[in-house]
Amino acid sequence: MKDLKTTIGLEIHVQLKTKSKMFCRCDNFAEGKAPNTVVCPVCLGLPGALPVANYQAIEWTIKTGLALDCEIAKVAKFDRKHYFYPDLPKGYQISQYDEPFATHGRVEMSNYKYQTSNSKEETIKIRLNRIHLEEDAGKLIHSGGKSLVDLNRAGTPLMEIVTEPDITSPEMAGDFLRKLQKIVRDVSEVSEASMEKGHMRCDANISLTDGTIMSPIIELKNLNSFKFVEKALTLVRAHLAETYDSRPKKLSKETWGYDSVNNKVYLQRRKEEAADYRYFPCPDLPPFESSVFDLNKLRSELKEDVEQKLTLLRDLDVPGTYAGTIALNNKWYDSFILLRQRIGDDYCIDIAEAIAQLPTYFGDLKGNAVGEIDFKAEVIKNRSTKSAMRKIFEKALANPEMTYLEIKSIIDSEMNEFDDEKIGTLITDIIEKNPNELNRYRQGEKQLFGFFMGKLMKETQGKANPQKLNQLLREKLETK
Ligand code: ZN
Ligand code: MN
Repeated sequence: MKDLKTTIGLEIHVQLKTKSKMFCRCDNFAEGKAPNTVVCPVCLGLPGALPVANYQAIEWTIKTGLALDCEIAKVAKFDRKHYFYPDLPKGYQISQYDEPFATHGRVEMSNYKYQTSNSKEETIKIRLNRIHLEEDAGKLIHSGGKSLVDLNRAGTPLMEIVTEPDITSPEMAGDFLRKLQKIVRDVSEVSEASMEKGHMRCDANISLTDGTIMSPIIELKNLNSFKFVEKALTLVRAHLAETYDSRPKKLSKETWGYDSVNNKVYLQRRKEEAADYRYFPCPDLPPFESSVFDLNKLRSELKEDVEQKLTLLRDLDVPGTYAGTIALNNKWYDSFILLRQRIGDDYCIDIAEAIAQLPTYFGDLKGNAVGEIDFKAEVIKNRSTKSAMRKIFEKALANPEMTYLEIKSIIDSEMNEFDDEKIGTLITDIIEKNPNELNRYRQGEKQLFGFFMGKLMKETQGKANPQKLNQLLREKLETK
């Protein structure tokens, strides 16, 4: 077979997690609500209703543009895109035509696994054509031979991200989407970006070429999982390769569907010419000037992406398993950074270990002094016990200004009350008072260790290092 190059471009719709819809004040979280209950004259497009643009949605689109290295338009506007479909009873969608909020961005990805690209660079760049903002349509529900319309979703803000055809394999398309999901979820923090829930939907265009002649372009619509994107593109690519020589060499476009149950692709329709949506500027919405937004501030609010975080953690000698856990969660990563500043670089590994092992402590840590002090005590958990720690929490809570070193010195002094000798005497005492248990233990009932440990913990009132207690107790029990 000929050496055919694969070209893939993607269009991704990302649902923004704003409180209200794009052009009205309806609740933007209509999932699971009774059909047609989260609607108003604006999102229904009733005659005379006036849309008002959601400032937050525009700000987030621009913020995402910054996260994706885009140029932010000085002036942008909304246009009406006309088409008829039952889930769009008003007859047009408010979208953006020739003046979107952001253009010319890029996503960089590690190049190590893509043999197909000739580049020897460590990273490959997927260029982005544009990011625009639009409203979603409603939903059709087909059941019992009827088609029903639910307009709860109508007017939900959607960010549409369009790539250049820089993707060279189905696998690369999947990886690109995973990376993009992380960016909108964790870097610009504008969407839950769940593919299953439809917060992120992907259309893919694919064609093959031998360098001179191009196959038709096949468009796959509304793919809703990363795996489906990869599988559907793989199937369509195989089809294009098989039919490459027998096809009429006239540039054409086809829309194909993907049946995920049977893992099959099928032709839906041939496109003779581009649809004419009769775009025109939305007369109800004035153009926007980006000078309204403080771009530097928005840029400073972007979170680092996972790779940047991993690099920093590795540079600080944080072990790989902890680094991976922390880098994937913004809250934990923020906690790490905050505590590193407060506690110091010497304790980076302790901090990382505590964060990675005690996620429940960090749910609300961000900006929470109480949580932070809990944490500080947890960091040194190996030199402490629960009840000693509770005391330290209490002291620390009474004095939020207390530094890590002060907390540590309290812990140390608490722990010094029981030295090895003192612990040894306690253990001997406990063993002598419980000869039956000692006998059974020595005859093999090893679970009785807990019985002795419990007594010992009670005697030391949680003021001794549990690891040390454990070690000394075991030695005494085992030596006859
Ligand atoms: Zn509404
Ligand atoms: Mn769209």
